[in-house]
Amino acid sequence: MGLLAFTDEQREVRDLARAYARRRLAPLAAERDREERFDRSMVAEMAELGFFGMLIPEAHGGLGLDPQGYLLALEEIAVADASAAVLLSVHNSLPVQMLLERGTDAQRTRFLPAMARGEALGAFCLSEPEAGSDAASLRTQAVRDGDGWRLDGTKAWVSHGSEAGVLLCMARTDTPDARRGARGISAFILTPDLPGFRVGKKEAKLGLRASPTVQVVLEECRVPGDRLLGAEGEGLLYALGSLDHGRLGIAAQAIGIARAALEASARYVGERKQFGKAIGEFQAVQFKLADMAARITSARALVHAAAAAKARGEKVTRFCSMAKLTATETAMWVTTQAVQLFGGYGYVTDYPVERHFRDAKVTEIYEGTSEIQRIVIARETLAAAAAADGTLED
Ligand SMILES: Cc1cc2nc3c(=O)[nH]c(=O)nc-3n(C[C@H](O)[C@H](O)[C@H](O)COP(=O)(O)OP(=O)(O)OC[C@H]3O[C@@H](n4cnc5c(N)ncnc54)[C@H](O)[C@@H]3O)c2cc1C
Repeated sequence: MGLLAFTDEQREVRDLARAYARRRLAPLAAERDREERFDRSMVAEMAELGFFGMLIPEAHGGLGLDPQGYLLALEEIAVADASAAVLLSVHNSLPVQMLLERGTDAQRTRFLPAMARGEALGAFCLSEPEAGSDAASLRTQAVRDGDGWRLDGTKAWVSHGSEAGVLLCMARTDTPDARRGARGISAFILTPDLPGFRVGKKEAKLGLRASPTVQVVLEECRVPGDRLLGAEGEGLLYALGSLDHGRLGIAAQAIGIARAALEASARYVGERKQFGKAIGEFQAVQFKLADMAARITSARALVHAAAAAKARGEKVTRFCSMAKLTATETAMWVTTQAVQLFGGYGYVTDYPVERHFRDAKVTEIYEGTSEIQRIVIARETLAAAAAADGTLED
């Protein structure tokens, strides 16, 4: 029994993911990272285990897991290979959620079963070269074209966009002479077979190198009318709504990266000898490990408390931001300590902690930077303080 009480089903999912990740993902994670290789056979294995349908209801071919079981599985995958974890997190948390929450019956029936089987990987196209934190300023334009739409623009930073079968793409449906800000953006379900769809530049990255990050270029891309998701003008709100899920997924990924660094460090300090003893016998080293463990456990508790509150139907945007901020800054801090504990060996590729350190950094950037999480938390905290009697207890 650990600090958090999980159900039998949640523990089973976690144990299955842990066993698979240790046996099949961990051994080749460094090689995939070095070669910047997206591994289709790994995708097929994870699909076989149902990992691409974790949050998809059984009626659509998924496992219909509860969110905490899903987050536990993601953490285990991230311990072994953070690139595999971002694939699962983006797929399950963003496009799948948007389709589940906003898709018509016909759209769900058409896309979700293939996504659950891992045949159609889901990607999320919100960011653009000139629109990151300020997503409402995106420029990709959709104009009506007969009974469909024509899209023009460039989406940036699309995780596994070159491998995806279903891409949820946010584009403007307002007109240049009547801009409607955040309400002028709609969500479209794209597939790579659409005329005018093309994968552009692939980014060369510091970390998560086995996860291809690409631009998606839309040039007079003809999109059928039945690919509009939900209501016209509501797409940005749907995308931001799905980020509550997404941020918990990234938080779980970050905890997995931090745990991998802690586990490697705990082993290393028992082996490495200086001044005639294992460095783990020095109290300064033990205190570092203690702080690493305490921060990871605190972050995990917050992530699962936020997920449980979300499952109860509570308004959790602030808590999802707190969980993402805490877990990702924990991952960066813990992996930095791990490199320090390894000394020079932490700085070279013979040991895994330099990869964990590189992988941790992006968790503070994507799905809303740490600064954006602080803006969300501050806004809601100030609103809560202004309301009622100003008590800030949760
Ligand atoms: C590996 C990777 C994968 C990604 N995958 C996806 C994906 O699948 N789909 C997708 O749509 N996007 C994806 N992104 C994009 C990611 O979400 C953006 O990079 C992120 O939102 C930040 O946007 P930006 O890079 O344009 O930075 P900017 O928004 O230009 O920010 C630059 C700096 O300014 C700060 N800043 C900006 N505004 C404020 C403010 N108001 N107050 C204080 N500070 C501020 C930021 O915090 C940051 O430190 C990915 C990015 C990376 C690196």
